Amino acid sequence: MSKDLNKEAIEPRLVEELDQTNLEKIITPVLQLPLTFDPIQRINDGFKHFKINEFNKHPEYFQKLAEKQKPKFLMFACSDSRVSPTNIFNLRPGEAFMARNIANMVPAFDKLKHAGVGAIIEYAILALEVEVIMVIGHSRCGGISRLISLPDEETSYDFIDRWVSIGEPAKAKVLAEHPNATGQELQTLVEKESVMNSLGNLLSYPYVRLGIANKKLKVLGGYYDFVCGKFQFLDVHHHIEQTTNIQE
Ligand SMILES: [Zn+2]
Repeated sequence: MSKDLNKEAIEPRLVEELDQTNLEKIITPVLQLPLTFDPIQRINDGFKHFKINEFNKHPEYFQKLAEKQKPKFLMFACSDSRVSPTNIFNLRPGEAFMARNIANMVPAFDKLKHAGVGAIIEYAILALEVEVIMVIGHSRCGGISRLISLPDEETSYDFIDRWVSIGEPAKAKVLAEHPNATGQELQTLVEKESVMNSLGNLLSYPYVRLGIANKKLKVLGGYYDFVCGKFQFLDVHHHIEQTTNIQE
């Protein structure tokens, strides 16, 4: 994980001013700070492309979507900017309800913790009636690297370490089954086992268990390797059920 996020990196005067009571005063000056790019221009250009090539070209599709969303998927993916399911699976608006977080983890059912994830699962199943929940791991995951490095006496984070610890059972299983694995091999094994751990945690949600029992819901694990551009579905032994390995 990058250590650039510490507060010392921000000008001290701004840290003092940045409290929630004077947001109005702060937001405009922040936008005027010298940045490495023009965010307004980038967003406007991107929206213009979407409006011309998608929204305006398919009025019926978007009119129908405006009435109601009926996504078939709930997808858990990492917040990593390289692994957006919308991009890699060519999803259109309305196709997938998204939950993205550090290392694409699903915590076990707990009303006192992780309400954000719990609310997404509850809503996706009870209100949207999604048919498939998919957890997608990926190569070179910084969150999984951090999980592997724990415990770390030298560095600690406010939130990250506690969050990635959700994957501890996956790490322990890999270390027990592959005691000699190190480096890249260990990283990949934990990335894949962590997907299995999250699928197991999904089963702790009563709505997930009920959906599966009623044959209205399926859970799937997947793994995207952005180094060689390969996607695969995973089963419990990390055996590949079906690989998408298109050369074009
Ligand atoms: Zn990641």
